[in-house]
Amino acid sequence: MDATTPLSEPRDSRRLGGAEVGGAKPGAAERGAARPATLGAVSVPDAARPAPERRRVVVVGAGQAGLSAAHFLRRAGLEPGRDLEVLDANPTPGGAWSHRWDALTFDDAHGIHDLPGLPLGQTDPTEPAREVVKRYYGRFEAVEGLRVSRPWRVTSVQALDPAGVAEGDVESGSEGGARFEVLAQAPDGARRLFLADAVISGTGTWDRPYLPAYPGRFAGPQLTTRDFVAAQDFAGQKVLVVGGGTSAVQFALLLEAAGAQPIWSTRRPPQWTKLPFDKNWGAEVERGVASRTRTGLPPLSVVAATGLPLIPRYVAGIRRGVLASRGAIRRLTEGGVEFADGSHESVDAILWATGFRASLGHLAPLRLREPGGGVLMAPDDVSVLRAPGVFLVGYGPSASTLGATRAGRRAARAALAASAAAASAAAASAAASAAASGMSWSAQNAELAAPAH
Ligand SMILES: Cc1cc2nc3c(=O)[nH]c(=O)nc-3n(C[C@H](O)[C@H](O)[C@H](O)COP(=O)(O)OP(=O)(O)OC[C@H]3O[C@@H](n4cnc5c(N)ncnc54)[C@H](O)[C@@H]3O)c2cc1C
Repeated sequence: MDATTPLSEPRDSRRLGGAEVGGAKPGAAERGAARPATLGAVSVPDAARPAPERRRVVVVGAGQAGLSAAHFLRRAGLEPGRDLEVLDANPTPGGAWSHRWDALTFDDAHGIHDLPGLPLGQTDPTEPAREVVKRYYGRFEAVEGLRVSRPWRVTSVQALDPAGVAEGDVESGSEGGARFEVLAQAPDGARRLFLADAVISGTGTWDRPYLPAYPGRFAGPQLTTRDFVAAQDFAGQKVLVVGGGTSAVQFALLLEAAGAQPIWSTRRPPQWTKLPFDKNWGAEVERGVASRTRTGLPPLSVVAATGLPLIPRYVAGIRRGVLASRGAIRRLTEGGVEFADGSHESVDAILWATGFRASLGHLAPLRLREPGGGVLMAPDDVSVLRAPGVFLVGYGPSASTLGATRAGRRAARAALAASAAAASAAAASAAASAAASGMSWSAQNAELAAPAH
């Protein structure tokens, strides 16, 4: 298989506007993987192979999780561009926040946890969260000197047989023994190939909006959270908003304010809660999600874990009847939707705010997906049990800005340990082959240093 083949597209899912439809079925490349990551041959055909660049650690994604990991690697002495590479698919700093809609002001977001060592400081609550976070992450990258490579999308991460990487095969850092080959692609098709001891993946979820499958077909426009730009685009229209999360609630209110008529559908009754979102609640949510990912199940959606806060604006929306769910969808019709109670509603557009799945397609060659549909995580919640040297940050219990920041620190420590272990394994293997060839290290070095005849 050519390593540039997109690996994130499950073959058996139907897609709409870039979203996955019909459930998190494992893709062909990721399916049935209750076995260790394969140690395989180099995946890029020699002719198309960019000159490999050697790094100790490659961080994929420069959102909150990747930036936090990069900070702790920096602090441990890794030099960006030499020992460390941070690759990000986006053209600007900001992670997924750089794509959020205009009306999502900083006030409307649940708050962003500080990145390590650089407090966010005072913000204008009325400014779009997108702009605040873009500026903040950009400042962090500059202060830390991270030299994030962007826009570079990692298309595959492949496990290598360390013995298979030749010493002269690398551009910087001459040692072989790399455990992973990381292939990245720019929008113009240019490619870069990295050889690394450890890979930290913090690729978030924004690239994989999820759409539930329903029978029938709606002929009008459909979009997902990812596509939403401005409620004004729907003025005068009747819009079905699907989803039980905060985004759906906010969309319904924005549409109402913009002169549209939102109709809200949730699969279960809305999970309103009076619980204040404090540290205890956050810790409980993290425990609940971790209990799934530590058994190889996919993470729960955030709303399933946290519920919807009964803040005054939402209470007012409930009172006005805007935030009254019509219940589950039974099927789509050409002009609208039939609900589970048998009622039909004609609508002009459907806005699916039905959540996201972890964006892990680039890891497909490692065959990480368990029969339960998730990745089996170690008790530290960042180490992938079946692929030593691969770490997920911002995944499962760390899918919040607070969790992502903490996970970055744990992953950085574990990646450094993995890199040190890879280096000693490579040294031991080199010593063993020198011994097998009957030559001492000093004799071998002397021979290498001797002038050619
Ligand atoms: C609508 C919405 C609102 C939210 N509001 C809040 C909130 O108020 N507070 C909160 O704590 N959390 C919130 N969250 C969750 C929040 O997004 C995360 O907690 C956190 O910001 C995610 O950080 P991350 O680094 O894991 O991912 P992201 O911010 O998604 O960053 C991932 C980065 O990886 C890059 N990437 C992806 N794939 C590749 C690849 N193959 N190669 C290279 N780069 C790649 C992307 O371009 C992106 O820059 C919200 C989520 C959503 C969807």
